[in-house]
Amino acid sequence: MTQSAEAAAPRVGTSAHTATFPDKVPDHVDVLIVGAGISGIGGAYHLTQQCAGTSFAVLEAQDGFGGTWLTHRYPGIRSDSDLYTFGYRFKPWTGKPIASAAEIREYLGEVIEDNDLARHIHYGHRIQSASWSSAEQCWTIVAERVDTGEQVRVTANFLWMCQGYYRHSEGYMPEWDGMAEFKGRIVHPQTWPDDLDYAGKKVVVIGSGATAATLVPSLAPTCEHVTVLQRSPTYFIPGRNKIEIADTLRELGICEEWIHEIVRRKILFDQAAFTRRSMTEPEVVKQELLAGVRAHLGPDYNLDPHFMPNYRPWRQRIAFVPDGDLFKGIASGKASVVTDEIERFTEAGIKLKSGETLEADIVVTATGFNLNVLGDIVFNIDGEPLNFADTVTYRGMMFTGVPNMAWVFGYFRASWTLRVDLVADFVCRLLTHMKQRGHRSVVPALRPEDAGMELQPWMDPENFNPGYLMRGMHLLPKRGAKPEWQHSQDYWTEKDELPKIDLEDPAFVYTR
Ligand SMILES: Cc1cc2nc3c(=O)[nH]c(=O)nc-3n(C[C@H](O)[C@H](O)[C@H](O)COP(=O)(O)OP(=O)(O)OC[C@H]3O[C@@H](n4cnc5c(N)ncnc54)[C@H](O)[C@@H]3O)c2cc1C
Repeated sequence: MTQSAEAAAPRVGTSAHTATFPDKVPDHVDVLIVGAGISGIGGAYHLTQQCAGTSFAVLEAQDGFGGTWLTHRYPGIRSDSDLYTFGYRFKPWTGKPIASAAEIREYLGEVIEDNDLARHIHYGHRIQSASWSSAEQCWTIVAERVDTGEQVRVTANFLWMCQGYYRHSEGYMPEWDGMAEFKGRIVHPQTWPDDLDYAGKKVVVIGSGATAATLVPSLAPTCEHVTVLQRSPTYFIPGRNKIEIADTLRELGICEEWIHEIVRRKILFDQAAFTRRSMTEPEVVKQELLAGVRAHLGPDYNLDPHFMPNYRPWRQRIAFVPDGDLFKGIASGKASVVTDEIERFTEAGIKLKSGETLEADIVVTATGFNLNVLGDIVFNIDGEPLNFADTVTYRGMMFTGVPNMAWVFGYFRASWTLRVDLVADFVCRLLTHMKQRGHRSVVPALRPEDAGMELQPWMDPENFNPGYLMRGMHLLPKRGAKPEWQHSQDYWTEKDELPKIDLEDPAFVYTR
C-alpha cells in the first residue's frame, strides 16, 4: 500500500463494527487476504509480526470486520467454544469463556487497533474472480465495490483465503410444501430481520443445533411459547460459564498473559481426553452427556426421544449450554421439544408426519448453512477454469496445481482459531523460505511415491458429518490416504506436525 493510500484509510475503533470504505485498494501487494473475519484478521496480525516488510491488503465484502460475528445478529448470538481457545494465542481473553458476538467483535476490534491493521483492510469489496498467470507469477484479483458496483483490480503474489466455509448472504433454507400458504413469518437466523417482533408470539424453531440452543433461551422469556422442532436429537454439554482455574489465577494476581496460556493448556488437555474417549468409549461418554441434561431437566423428564441421539458423540459439533439456560426454558414450560418430521406448512403452522400440528406465528429455520467453496470466487489458472474438486489438498491448507495460495479451514472439534494461528505460522514460514531462496511461486504436487494413492472426499463422513458438509462435499478438494494430503481435524497432532513441515519436500514445487 502506498503511503498516501495508507494515510487516507479510516481507522476502525474498538467499539465500531462498521467502517466507511477506504479510498483506494493498492494496485499490487505481496499478499492479498480474502475476508476480515477471525482468520483474516489473524493472518494480517501474523504477517506484520512474522514477515515484516511484506505488503498486504485485506479485502472484505461486508462493511465491517468480524465475519461470522457480524453476519449473525439473531437474539442471544454467542460462541459455543470458550474464548480462551477461540481467541488468538497472542491476545489474552479476560471475560467469561462463552462470549456474545458483540464481545467477540470488541476483541477483534482491539486486535485491529492495537496492531494498526485498519489501514490494510478494505471493506465493501466483494472479490469476484482470481486469475493466476504463470508468465507473470502472480494473481490478478477483480473485486466489486458494493457501494458503487465499480470493479477494482489488484495483483498479488500470494492469495491467503480467509473467507470461511459458508455463504454469508443467505443460510440454507429447505423447501417444504405449503410454505407459501403460511400466514406468519419464516425467518432464517443468518438473515434475522431487525423488525421481527416475537413478544407474545408462538415461535417454532426448526433444528436443534448450536443456533437453536442459543436462540431458545433468548426467545423463551418474551414469546408466548417456543417449540424446538427437530428431526433427530443433538448432544449438549451443560456447564457453568466460568473457568475456576482462571478465576483462581486472577485472585492470585497472575498476569493475563500467563492466565491465557495456562487456561488454554488446561482446556485443550481436557478436550483431548474427551475427544479420545468419544472414540474409545462412546457409550460411556454418551451416558455422561445424558446425565448432564438430566441434571437440569429432572429425573421425571424422559430423555428419549428428544435428547437421545442415535450417533456416537462428536460426529457433529456438541453444543455447550452455558449455565443450562436452554434447559431452564424447557423446565419452566416456556419452551418444549418435538421430535418429528415436517409433512407440510399450513396457514396456521406446521403439520407433522405424526399427524400433530404445531401452531406458529413465526417459524425460525435454524437449518444451517450453504457451504461455499473459496468465497464463490471464479478461479482460473493460465486461462483454464479451476474446479477445486479436481485438486487434492495439502494438509487442508493448499491445493495441488494451485500456486501461491493457502486456505484457512479451522477445526470442528476444537476452536477454529487454534488453526488460524497454526496456518499463519506455516504461511509466514513458507513466504520467508521463498523470499530467502528467491522462489516466486510454490505449488503442491503429488510426488512419485503418491502415485496410485486412493483419493476420497474432503472429509470422512464416519468422522464428521454435519448437513452443510454432506450437501457440499462434492465441491471440495479431495483428500489422499497420507497425512500430508488431508485435513486431519486433529489439533493435537497438527500443533506438533505443522511447524515441522519440511519446505524442501518434493510435495512443494517452486519456481524462481
Ligand atoms: C453462528 C456460528 C457460531 C459459531 N461458533 C463457533 C464457535 O463457538 N467456535 C468455533 O470454533 N467456531 C464457531 N463457528 C465457526 C466459525 O465460522 C468460525 O469459528 C470463525 O468465526 C470463522 O472465521 P473465518 O474468518 O474463517 O470465516 P468467516 O467468519 O466466515 O469470515 C469470512 C469473511 O470473508 C468474507 N468473504 C467471503 N467471501 C468473500 C469474497 N468473495 N470477497 C470478499 N470477502 C469475502 C465474508 O464476508 C466474511 O466476513 C461458528 C459459526 C457460526 C455460523
